[in-house]
Amino acid sequence: MAKLLVIAEQRKGVLSEASMELCKAAKAIAAAMGAQPAAAAFYKDDSVANEVAKYIPEVFSVVDAKLENYTADGYAQAVKAVVESQDVAGVLIAHTYDGIDMVAKVAMTLGWGVVSNCNKIEVSGGKPVFTRSTYNGKIHEEKSVSTDKFVASIEKGAYDKEAAGGAGSVTAVSASIGDIRTSFKEFVEMAAGSVDITQAKVIVSGGRGTKEKDKYNDIIVNLAKKLGGEYAASRPVVDAGWTDAARQVGQSGKSVAPDLYLAAGISGAIQHVAGMKGSKCIVAINKDPEAPIFNIATYGIIGDLFEVIPAMMGEL
Ligand SMILES: Cc1cc2nc3c(=O)[nH]c(=O)nc-3n(C[C@H](O)[C@H](O)[C@H](O)COP(=O)(O)OP(=O)(O)OC[C@H]3O[C@@H](n4cnc5c(N)ncnc54)[C@H](O)[C@@H]3O)c2cc1C
Repeated sequence: MAKLLVIAEQRKGVLSEASMELCKAAKAIAAAMGAQPAAAAFYKDDSVANEVAKYIPEVFSVVDAKLENYTADGYAQAVKAVVESQDVAGVLIAHTYDGIDMVAKVAMTLGWGVVSNCNKIEVSGGKPVFTRSTYNGKIHEEKSVSTDKFVASIEKGAYDKEAAGGAGSVTAVSASIGDIRTSFKEFVEMAAGSVDITQAKVIVSGGRGTKEKDKYNDIIVNLAKKLGGEYAASRPVVDAGWTDAARQVGQSGKSVAPDLYLAAGISGAIQHVAGMKGSKCIVAINKDPEAPIFNIATYGIIGDLFEVIPAMMGEL
């Protein structure tokens, strides 16, 4: 049976959460295609492959010192080696910073059709149909590839994470990794005190409706702390200097997909929604019942955030 192959993503040998989501996606899509879910892991040793095997039944491992850090050339050669050793129907890549770079390179190397930044892959008549958002999330388009096999990248948060606990097999694949035209220099760590909201499980986000910096801090920051999460903001809040740019969510800010995204005093403009629509549960507080944020909210609270949030804090 042909395999649907997830390319595992690692940084410093740690498997990314996006890879765990791909494992879940691969199981569902492979079942619909009549294929088997599998993964490929590339690293300086087998440790990443062993980790991925907790999430998917079969893993192909290419081990080479040149694969310690991601490079498009290195990964494309490793993918080719796995694809040549197996019957592979399609390749799934996480739509992350590395994945955005990798997806086109891998498709070129294999000569397969490519669709990037998908948020859903369904199967119709045995063929995959790829859904992706365009025009800043205003339109969903469906795509197919004209080749028999495909390469696709899936945006973070589109599928739930697979739970660890499996014991998949790990098979070594030999590959001679040749020229790599880019060289890895170093990871530049974020400055101390800066925040990476993309990793937060709970985000409380405030918009222009929070009125002013002190109120934003009092209401949004305190609720985020109470919930053990991070605080974030829409662009006007960042532009006004009420919080720093690393906390902006949206088209020109960060894309986030937490378990809970609480949007208070945010209208739900498409440029904001583009960065948070993948959140698992969206709670919106807005005094305008027609605010577009309610179109994507799991729970909507029509009310004044300066009354609703203190009441929530009281309950918490
Ligand atoms: C190229 C481009 C890129 C952009 N990128 C981004 C981006 O990355 N992120 C982003 O956020 N925006 C971005 N924008 C801006 C975007 O178009 C919107 O202007 C912005 O998201 C609006 O922010 P807001 O919802 O906080 O403010 P508003 O649209 O002004 O909404 C404020 C909301 O608060 C509600 N409200 C007011 N008072 C209360 C109260 N007391 N209680 C409850 N609700 C209240 C109002 O009903 C209203 O719905 C971008 C725009 C462009 C053109």
